[in-house]
Amino acid sequence: MVKLQSKVLTKEKLKNYAYSLGIDLVGIANIERFKNAPPRMNPANMFPDARSVIVIARRIPRGSLRGIEEGTNWVSYTYFGYHGLLNTLFIQKPLYELACFIEDHGYEAMPYYSGVPETQPPIEPLRPGAVAPNVELHIRIAALAAGLGEIGWSKVFLTKKFGPRQRLHAIITDAPLEPDPLVTPGSICDRCMACVYNCPSDAIPHIKERKIESVVIEGVKYEWAAVDVGRCCLSVHGGDKRVSPFLAKDFPGLMFDARKQKMSEEEAYKFCWTLSTRKFRKTKEFPSGYIVEGHAMLQKWGVGGSYNLCAGRGCIRSCMDHLEKTNRIKQTFRNGSFIKRPRWLLPIMK
Ligand code: SF4
Ligand code: SF4
Repeated sequence: MVKLQSKVLTKEKLKNYAYSLGIDLVGIANIERFKNAPPRMNPANMFPDARSVIVIARRIPRGSLRGIEEGTNWVSYTYFGYHGLLNTLFIQKPLYELACFIEDHGYEAMPYYSGVPETQPPIEPLRPGAVAPNVELHIRIAALAAGLGEIGWSKVFLTKKFGPRQRLHAIITDAPLEPDPLVTPGSICDRCMACVYNCPSDAIPHIKERKIESVVIEGVKYEWAAVDVGRCCLSVHGGDKRVSPFLAKDFPGLMFDARKQKMSEEEAYKFCWTLSTRKFRKTKEFPSGYIVEGHAMLQKWGVGGSYNLCAGRGCIRSCMDHLEKTNRIKQTFRNGSFIKRPRWLLPIMK
């Protein structure tokens, strides 16, 4: 039965309900903040009557990164910090409940699944004058527009509460909600370059290289590094022996250096997914038959989709360590800073 709500929906009422669902952070942008967005990333092209974009975050538990930092466990992060957190009911159930709550107040609410806009193949518009599908939000820019935080130099979204530790989703609605203030550029990321120095595939250019992406919202310019997403994808999805003990075990003779590749993101995905999903003749040494058995098992035991071998060695773990040590974020821990022991990286050839 639909619960009747008072028809007045204020920002405070919406946020209090969101927090009661377990959502950690909520930010609100008015639709005007997207006026300069490219047509295929503009929420008004998904929902022409939209007045507000609500961006929500749930935290990545710091402990889910521990196993990879220590070099002992990969499933915890894949499930509780990466694909599982983003693509299961951890976020989607509260997002759905929040959308229903808004609709119980008489407004339409489009729960938005944060896809990857850059990888959508263009097709023809389906109606005269319409924008070609798929229209996708750039979820990090949407979060920036909603005042949740800023995009760090690493291109990872940073908040004052958790630093780089959160996953994002959104709701586009015709509810006219009061927007949150924008975060001042540089109030979280101090350009320390820890992300650059600790990225295994050299995917994040140093600030001196001046390879920059930017966006302007309400006259405020935000900048971040033009990250090499192909190289990053190789380290994340298992094409980098330095961060994948599974690839190193199954291909001891492979001399493949992710730092020297010039693959597009799509090429890197195809390369990595082939290694984890294709089967070949089973042998005594490889009873599962998968090309890289460890990646296939991680995919199965994790959440049946994507998995992550790098776990943001530079852009999440080093960044978080730096932000905690310099008191730039609010959530701190009794056991002190995150990185406690000399870090590991595997050789390309022994
Ligand atoms: S490590 Fe974090 S704070 Fe330092 S430059 Fe990179 S994104 Fe900014
Ligand atoms: S996920 Fe790993 S490879 Fe990608 S940018 Fe972050 S540290 Fe570099």
